[in-house]
Amino acid sequence: MKAKFSFQRLTSCSQTKARAGIFLTPHGPVETPRFMPVGTLANVKTLTPAQLRDTEAQMILCNTYHLHLQPGEGIVAGGGGLHKFMGWNGPILTDSGGFQVFSLSEMRKISEEGVTFRSPHDGRIINLTPERSIEIQNILGADVIMAFDECPPYPATREDVEAATLRTYRWLERCIAAHQRSDQALFGIVQGGVHLDLRASAAVALAQLELPGYAIGGVSVGEPPELIAKIVEATAPLLPPEKPRYLMGVGTYREMAIAIASGVDLFDCVIPTRWARHGTAMVQGERWNLKNAQFREDFTPLDETCPCYTCQNFSRAYLSHLVRSQEILAYTLLSIHNITELIRFTQRIREAILEDQFATKFAQWLTPTPQSGETVSRNSL
Ligand SMILES: [Zn+2]
Repeated sequence: MKAKFSFQRLTSCSQTKARAGIFLTPHGPVETPRFMPVGTLANVKTLTPAQLRDTEAQMILCNTYHLHLQPGEGIVAGGGGLHKFMGWNGPILTDSGGFQVFSLSEMRKISEEGVTFRSPHDGRIINLTPERSIEIQNILGADVIMAFDECPPYPATREDVEAATLRTYRWLERCIAAHQRSDQALFGIVQGGVHLDLRASAAVALAQLELPGYAIGGVSVGEPPELIAKIVEATAPLLPPEKPRYLMGVGTYREMAIAIASGVDLFDCVIPTRWARHGTAMVQGERWNLKNAQFREDFTPLDETCPCYTCQNFSRAYLSHLVRSQEILAYTLLSIHNITELIRFTQRIREAILEDQFATKFAQWLTPTPQSGETVSRNSL
């Protein structure tokens, strides 16, 4: 049988651990490194699939936890599966719901079996186990599905983090046993909090399971950016080089560049669409509030070098007017630009890696200096 998934490394950087590659899925290729937009409820907020395609999005994310609560995986399956239901024919990744259960739900109870929590929609008690998470993801039908993991909060005691890391491994074994579909790739998730030795032993243990891909989870939960860089640096190189590596919940310029330098391939984050809904544009590494007076009579595009529909057709003054008027079109136009911007950032890095110019051309992004406005906690998802 022809392999439905493969990862090909095209080249590696001579000065860092960065690599450029292609991850093939049943719904098309993903050129890495690549930013993946988040479509929590089977839509990237305010964008049609055609608009999303124009941003050059390849793989996008949907959330198992949210889709299980509304509309429920049965309805998604009734609509022909996630791709057909949401009209997106490209690759899709679903997370396991673990992160949302641990960060969002109240009254949760964790046991070896799984997690019990109360639905924020209707108050019913829901039991999510590794087997159930995989079953839901098998029904949803994304190309890449994620193992159900225990994501410890930050800060947490070392004992708690160690217990969660070991449990995540036991849960991964149950996920592998429960997984039913050969047209879906199951990725394992490395936990370990800020403890580099726990991260390293988890990465080594997971690598032996020969999964089609690996993720680094439990970061961007409130820890400082320097720590994220250290965690990724200590973890990514221990994962199998011939498999894609995904850093969950990270999507700022600096953190992505640093993680790419450690050998990470895939990223996701809600910030481009969330900031768009706050009237904020991401322009060449900066964050602009379009309500600022300086944009009122500025008739130039957001970014003259940007090929997106927004920059090709509208001025900063027009966007500022829409934001001030709270017009829905403002959020669509800014989402188009912000997503295009982050994807282009990873595309430019990819091109630089292919030319072996990454360390030189992106030097300004390769130091983990925290700058206000650049980072965002995934906790606020
Ligand atoms: Zn643009």
